Amino acid sequence: MEPLPQKKLRGNATDESSTEECTKISEKCSNQGLTYDVLRIIFKYLNGMELSNAAMVCRSWLEAANNEKQTRGPTYLMEYCKMQCSMELVKTKIIKNLRIKPVLGLFFTSPFVPFIKKDCHCKVLPPNCDTVTLGTYGIIIDSTEIENSSEEIVCACLPEIPGVTIKTFAIGDNSTKTYDISQSVKKYSKDIKEFLSTPENNPDMPKCLLLFSDLRGRSSAIQISNSLRRRYAANKLSVWGGVATDLLVCNSKDSKNNKCRNFAICVVALIGSVDTWSIVVDKSYKTRERIEQRLKSFKNRICLKKHSMGFMFACCARGERMFDVCNTESTIFKQLFPEVPLVGCFGDGEFGINSLPSLVSSRKKKNLYNETTTVFLIITYG
Ligand SMILES: [Zn+2]
Repeated sequence: MEPLPQKKLRGNATDESSTEECTKISEKCSNQGLTYDVLRIIFKYLNGMELSNAAMVCRSWLEAANNEKQTRGPTYLMEYCKMQCSMELVKTKIIKNLRIKPVLGLFFTSPFVPFIKKDCHCKVLPPNCDTVTLGTYGIIIDSTEIENSSEEIVCACLPEIPGVTIKTFAIGDNSTKTYDISQSVKKYSKDIKEFLSTPENNPDMPKCLLLFSDLRGRSSAIQISNSLRRRYAANKLSVWGGVATDLLVCNSKDSKNNKCRNFAICVVALIGSVDTWSIVVDKSYKTRERIEQRLKSFKNRICLKKHSMGFMFACCARGERMFDVCNTESTIFKQLFPEVPLVGCFGDGEFGINSLPSLVSSRKKKNLYNETTTVFLIITYG
């Protein structure tokens, strides 16, 4: 048996040249583990939660993780939700496998996906993340509109965006009566306005509101939307949303008031360095050509950045009922914005605003609530 080579003692050198050599060797050794390039390759395979855990290891891992995060934008996907398995389970699975650590999740569920009262998935949500689940008349993903009886969930998630604040306001849980909802509307309108006008939220900062309600919350939601509408100029505000059959909010942010249940109204406010535009395609737009024209002029006035996400909320009286063929409006959108993912749903009443003043037909301030319309929203940043 050969004798093991003797360990060389470092820093034992007498002349300068060998000391230098030793330092070089030790530097090489410490970096040999995982270089930046190797970290980047490994981090590509991590999901959103794993990546954010890796970022906490040390400074060099943080740098590599942050640069990997920047390559990942909003995520969207569709999952089957068979009758036998619960929606809660499907959503938990989705959140666990996301490529990003979400700060906002929107779930659009097909009419045949059962709503369970205790459908909370807060435990798998990272801190500071809210999700809103809508029961719909049909779901939309890219150029596919599924209006018939199906069992799918479409999910869209936004990652943390530097310089952007997202806040969710949920009003009237399942135990409150319509009367109580209208009582709390004033308080919530005030809270929302206060949030939109905090000093750090510069008045010129673009604001985006996602407004949802279930059927019982409709009239109060209209009231809130009107009071917000009076306060902001159209070119500083984009609005998107509508009336769904069910509305569920999971709010892991609000630990004191950790009520995850069916709410009547939900307002999600986005403020900061993100560009957003919304457009209302009203009931006078009934043909493919006219809708194409309108969305083209919308496209010509907006500028897409690195990461974008498109949203579509359509009235259940549009879609196949109006055009005789399905996928009409989503196809037009995708032809004009092939790079922008599109998600959304069919509802019964839509909230929206033409955030490009040049596209508004009359000078009069229109209400945010519309019927028989389709509202599109684009969020872009980076
Ligand atoms: Zn929850």
